[in-house]
Amino acid sequence: TRESAKMFLKKNLLFLSTVAAVVLGTILGFALRPRNLSLRESKYLSFPGELLMRMLQMLVQPLIISSLVTGISSLDNKASGKMGVRAITYYIVTTLVAVLIGIVMVMIIRPGKGSKQPTMVKIEDLEAVQPTDAFLDLVRNMFPPNLVEACFMQYKTVYKKIVHTRNVTVMLNGTDSLKGSVSNPSSNLSRVLNTIQETVEEIVPVSGSSAGVNALGLVVFSMCFGLVIGNMKQQGQPLRDLFDCINDAIMRLVTILVWYAPIGILFLIAGKIVEMKDMVELGNQLGMYIVSVIVGLLIHGLLVLPVLYFLITKKNPYIFIGGVMHALFTALGTSSSSATLPITFRCLEENNHVDKRVTRFVLPVGATVNMDGTALYEAVAAIFLSQVNGMELNITQILTVSITATAASIGAAGIPQAGLVTMVIVVTSLGLPTEEITLIIAVDWFLDRLRTTTNVLGDCIGAGIVEHISHRELENQDDEIHNSVIEE
Ligand code: ASP
Repeated sequence: TRESAKMFLKKNLLFLSTVAAVVLGTILGFALRPRNLSLRESKYLSFPGELLMRMLQMLVQPLIISSLVTGISSLDNKASGKMGVRAITYYIVTTLVAVLIGIVMVMIIRPGKGSKQPTMVKIEDLEAVQPTDAFLDLVRNMFPPNLVEACFMQYKTVYKKIVHTRNVTVMLNGTDSLKGSVSNPSSNLSRVLNTIQETVEEIVPVSGSSAGVNALGLVVFSMCFGLVIGNMKQQGQPLRDLFDCINDAIMRLVTILVWYAPIGILFLIAGKIVEMKDMVELGNQLGMYIVSVIVGLLIHGLLVLPVLYFLITKKNPYIFIGGVMHALFTALGTSSSSATLPITFRCLEENNHVDKRVTRFVLPVGATVNMDGTALYEAVAAIFLSQVNGMELNITQILTVSITATAASIGAAGIPQAGLVTMVIVVTSLGLPTEEITLIIAVDWFLDRLRTTTNVLGDCIGAGIVEHISHRELENQDDEIHNSVIEE
């Protein structure tokens, strides 16, 4: 047994050190709290973590592009089409279920009840951010005009106030007593029609950009590029080889980087805990709000997704989840599904032996658009804020929350606290002023870690399910490759 314990340690060393990093980071953070470090000092403390985030993010763009291009170009059109439809169906269904769980939790627990006087919400309070524009941003980001720029820019509606003057012709009083002719400029009649200038203010949405990776744009481009290369048959081979080779090289870099990851995670967490506000200050409402989110995430991640996995694959979901634990803890430590992506690949391919053609195809898409945890959190947060404002939601409003929370989760980039930004869509769709979001900012860093973990779990289970239901296509593809090798 000592031998087997040794084996276990050796096999799980990385995973165990990631867990240790989370635990030690928490302890270190709490140990340093009484010292009341300044913000500057706490930034120094998290510096090793900042480096980790930068290194992971550096690898993510080439990883997304190379894995999607190789993944899709190695499948025939029919197989990739089918796999794509399956993955998207899984994403949509699970995201909606997550939203539903969130809504039910927040309706049962009612964290925002009995509070601040009901404030009359006036539409004038709204900032100009409109749900329509947010939807357009989502689509706009799918088509970046510049691929290089897409690696560090997102396109987003900005509002311009335009004041223009226009001429208005007004009729002056006293028309009855008019005499004379129009052609005579000094006559009364010509004076009666007067032109005045009126100033009009108009707020117009225009397209702008802001910092942040536009992963969605890269995903759309890489998918199309992969499809085209796949159809080029022999001619496309050099490109397929090139991207395949890039992908391998990046994964090798990841293999080196993972050894640094625990150190980075430790300091990331310690730094955050040092900066954190005192829990007592948060009060009862925010406490119950946290509980609603956590219970919802637990139900979704530990019950709904595993049961779905079991029903479809008839395999033990918890063994599968055991294989991706390392990715889950990295998500907890980094708060970013994109930054976790390299580890997610490793876990699924090496521990759970998921086919590379599946992981390369579905993981980059999943990390970008499939965010169950974020969707659940958006719904809970928006309804919580409406409860705090004494608003009772009707069915239409609840439906609106479900749809906008889903959109907000798709639109959120896989970076820390992106969900807080896209929450504007959900909050404004309920007619609440965006300033309300400030209420929950204090606890967002913490909930962000938990929802990111759920997001990554959703991506992993999705890959497992898609592989299972696509095994026929994958085998056909194997046969074809086999036959063509024999022919040659
Ligand atoms: N941090 C989350 C993620 O990377 C996104 C969010 O803020 O909800 O998945």
